[in-house]
Amino acid sequence: MNETHDTDRGPTNGGMARAAVQRVEDGMLRAYRLWFEHARRCDGCKQVKRAQDGCEDGRTLWGTYRLARIEGTP
Ligand SMILES: [Zn+2]
Repeated sequence: MNETHDTDRGPTNGGMARAAVQRVEDGMLRAYRLWFEHARRCDGCKQVKRAQDGCEDGRTLWGTYRLARIEGTP
């Protein structure tokens, strides 16, 4: 009886948690990619060592990525 109960509960919770993590990671990757594509072409962002030191557009894109990353942190 107990074995059946545990088996039913385990995979369901695990699957839901994985799906949520996957959604957050998708958003993070998309935001990071937007910034990366910008920084690759932008002279202002290409030269700086940290994304925070880039141009205004670059900093905005980086901020979006950081927000997406924070959303994934419990
Ligand atoms: Zn830039």
